[in-house]
Amino acid sequence: MASQKDFSVKARPTWCPSCWNWSVWGALKNALVELTLEPHKVLIVYGIGCSGNMTNFVNTYGFHGLHGRPIPIAIGAKLANHKLAVIVVAGDGDTYGEGMNHFLQAARGNHDITLIVHNNQNYGLTTGQKSPTSERGYKSKSSPAGVRDTPVNPISLALASGAGFVSRGYAVDPLGVQKLIVEAVKFKGFSLIDVLQPCITFNKLNTSQWFKERVYDLEESSHDSLDYKKALLRSLEWGEKIPVGIFYKKEKPTYKDYLPQIKDKALVEQDLKDIDIFPLFEEFI
Ligand code: SF4
Repeated sequence: MASQKDFSVKARPTWCPSCWNWSVWGALKNALVELTLEPHKVLIVYGIGCSGNMTNFVNTYGFHGLHGRPIPIAIGAKLANHKLAVIVVAGDGDTYGEGMNHFLQAARGNHDITLIVHNNQNYGLTTGQKSPTSERGYKSKSSPAGVRDTPVNPISLALASGAGFVSRGYAVDPLGVQKLIVEAVKFKGFSLIDVLQPCITFNKLNTSQWFKERVYDLEESSHDSLDYKKALLRSLEWGEKIPVGIFYKKEKPTYKDYLPQIKDKALVEQDLKDIDIFPLFEEFI
C-alpha cells in the first residue's frame, strides 16, 4: 500500500512560508493514502496559479494545463480511462474566472472528476489582483478603490448546475479538507471542494482570524446533505456565518453512462488497431 512518501518528491514547494497551500497539499497526499490509491492510478490536472505550482510537488501522473483549462483536460482523460482517479487542482481565478464555463459544464455533465479549488479570493501568483470571489471592498493593484462586483458564489452555482457533490473546506483545518477529498474522490460523478484558503501575503481582508470568527461545520448543525433545497439555502450563507462541509451529496448517472461506446469499456481498454482514422481526418480537413 502506498504511503505519503510515495506521493512526495524531493523538490520543496516555493509557496510563501506559512501559506495555507501547504495545508491543502498535505491533506491531498494524506487523502490519496487513505483512499489506498497508488501514484500511477491518479491523474492530477493543475491550473495556473500558486496552487497550480503543486504540479511539481506531488508524485502522480500530472498535467499542468493552460490558465482556466484544467477541467476539460481532466474530463477528456477520465472519458478515455475510467480507471484513473482524476482530480483537478486549481485556484479561484482559474476556475471561476477564465474557466467558469468549464466549471458549469463539468457540473451539468456530471463528469466523474473531483475539483479542488484553492479559493484565496485573489490572483496570488501575480501579486494579489482581484478575482471573481474577492470580497466587495477588497483593494488590490487591479481594484485600488475596492472591488465593486458581487462575489461569485461557487456553492450556489455548482448546485444550480446539477453537481451531485458540493462541499466547502477550510485550509486551516487540514483534517477536514482531507476528509472531504476522500469523500469526493469516492463519489461517482462531479464533485466540488471549494477550499477557503487565506492568502497571508496579499489578502488582508479575509484572514484566518476573519474566518475563525465565522466558519462553522455543517456536520455539527442539523443540515441534511440529501436535501437539495436546504443545501441551496445553506449555500447563501456568507458573512457572519460561513458553513463548511458537505452541502449536498446525491449520486446519479455520470456522463459516460450515456455513451454506449465507452460505458462499460474505457477507450484505453478497447482494441483500436483495426480502426481507420484517416477518413475522419479527411472529413475535418
Ligand atoms: Fe500563498 Fe498567497 Fe503566497 Fe500564493 S501569494 S503562495 S496564495 S500566501
